[in-house]
Amino acid sequence: CRKHDIVLSLGNTARSGCIHDRRDKMQVAEIRQNIVLAHRALERGVQVIIEGCGGHIRSDRIPSYIKYQKGLSPFPLFVAGPLPTDIAIGFDHIAGACGGSAASAAGADYLCYITPAEHLGLPTPAAVKEGLIAFRIAAHIGDTVKYGRDAQDKTVAELRAALDREGQIRCSMDPGRARELSDGEAECTMCGEFCAIKIMREF
Ligand code: SF4
Repeated sequence: CRKHDIVLSLGNTARSGCIHDRRDKMQVAEIRQNIVLAHRALERGVQVIIEGCGGHIRSDRIPSYIKYQKGLSPFPLFVAGPLPTDIAIGFDHIAGACGGSAASAAGADYLCYITPAEHLGLPTPAAVKEGLIAFRIAAHIGDTVKYGRDAQDKTVAELRAALDREGQIRCSMDPGRARELSDGEAECTMCGEFCAIKIMREF
């Protein structure tokens, strides 16, 4: 692995399968064992990330689980999901992105995306795209907290205040999708003629 600069990802097999499940001795033993293995790899010059805190985890437990594992180990932490609800079947990319943003904000370094087909079947290319975008949003939300990486959000806020719809679309996560949904007006459809910014301009 060192010769070919391979990064090992040490898997997380003992994880909770529903939000009523929770971390137990076996999960903690696996985390600790993976950390021992990761140190052995690092001593031999092989890079490692460790998977943990994935699966299904109730929302309020996500930050403490992430902080616990980050406190035990200097290695990058990779999480799958986590899913903070079990009822979003068909929309698990959205549920997973909710959990992933909380995990990322609490310190997770790498998110494994989930598609709408999770628990149902193999994803189509369109489902893969939906899942990837959902998790890019989750990772970005985490980065705004962890690294203060919110310059693009500020730019969009300024463009919104300038009623620059096209500028906002250009700065968005998926400009193609935003353009498809846009009605082409400067102000947002919900406020329409009552847009506070538009009215203020008149005075
Ligand atoms: S339309 Fe409403 S939400 Fe949009 S910029 Fe104006 S006040 Fe804000």
